Amino acid sequence: MPKINECLIDVDLANAIREVADALKLKIPAGKLGFRCPNPKCRKPVKPMVAGGKQGPHFEHLKRNPKCDLSHVRRS
Ligand SMILES: [Zn+2]
Repeated sequence: MPKINECLIDVDLANAIREVADALKLKIPAGKLGFRCPNPKCRKPVKPMVAGGKQGPHFEHLKRNPKCDLSHVRRS
């Protein structure tokens, strides 16, 4: 029987985990909590962001991946 080793997580729960990790001063290797982009062609590390300005809570790639459809596009 196949095992599920990963699942999708809501950004609000991810932000709560990040907050707890910060409050407990947990040592997270390279600051990566293990969240990864859900795009099967990407799967790069992402971090949860709280709401700010006009944006609601969301995930951002730790390092922008121009090949990912979900990567933030910078407008100049
Ligand atoms: Zn991605």
